[in-house]
Amino acid sequence: MTTLAPLAPWQARAYAHLVSIHEAGRLGHGVLFAGPAGLGKRAVAQRLAQRILCREPAGAEPCGHCRSCQLFAAGTHADFELVSFIPTKDGARMRTEIVIEQIRELGERLALTPQYGGAQVAVLDPADAINHHAANALLKTLEEPHPGRFLWLVSAHPARLSATIRSRCQRVEFRLPPREEALAWLIAQGHKPAAAEEALDAARGHPGLADQWLQGEGLALRRQVAADLDKLERGTAGALATAQAWVADEYAELRLRHAADLALERAAGLTDAGRTRSLAAWFDAANRTRDLLRTTVRADLAVTELLLAWRGDAPVARGGRA
Ligand SMILES: [Zn+2]
Repeated sequence: MTTLAPLAPWQARAYAHLVSIHEAGRLGHGVLFAGPAGLGKRAVAQRLAQRILCREPAGAEPCGHCRSCQLFAAGTHADFELVSFIPTKDGARMRTEIVIEQIRELGERLALTPQYGGAQVAVLDPADAINHHAANALLKTLEEPHPGRFLWLVSAHPARLSATIRSRCQRVEFRLPPREEALAWLIAQGHKPAAAEEALDAARGHPGLADQWLQGEGLALRRQVAADLDKLERGTAGALATAQAWVADEYAELRLRHAADLALERAAGLTDAGRTRSLAAWFDAANRTRDLLRTTVRADLAVTELLLAWRGDAPVARGGRA
């Protein structure tokens, strides 16, 4: 007997909707699970796959104890496949795109008879990471559906998929849940109410992100970033030294994310349009710098440049806030 992980309320709603469509015989071959990262799209897709493959489903849920459910829980079900990033040929690192060989293999597998006589499900996540050649192969697979075979695409950036691919899929949209629901869920995860509220505000209502921040260094990191920006503003810290500290560990990207968000937060409290614009420009610059971190540009220099610009804009923010 394997226990099913509880779904969050917004996941449970999406799941119930999908099960009812499946029960009504209207679940398509291709489904696109779209919506912000961290809301549990893949978890819902996997639960639905388990339910479809289960031999003795108990209502909307998979039974959790049949052979199929056991194999699924062990990650060894022959009729379920998760396609994601794989290591490079030399095995030195993970690829950052999904390549044509993976999609071809997937197409071949979906053309086979399911091993356990039921259905066959493949989940592609993140689907928007397919490269151009892989996209053409994927389209071919989507256009040649076999009965009982499902190919589901999970994406936080569905606009990056071609319109043709999107048009071949039924779309399930994941949205941020109502604040009260997100807050209740965070508290149910064991977070203190005050911290949960602060994290939820910082994450702009995204419960998954808030949870992640509350578990890790996220929120402490945000406070530190806010303090650093204040110091830069007052001239008690230098842009170069601060930038070097920001990129010294694996949290550089998260710091910039918080910094960009703090700029927006400040801009929201302003009434001067020109000042709001300069903070909005800084917000864009911070996000561009985040992208640069993934390239070969020297991170400390890119961040220094950004922080020098903050110093220029900062008195504006302070003045408007007072
Ligand atoms: Zn079962």
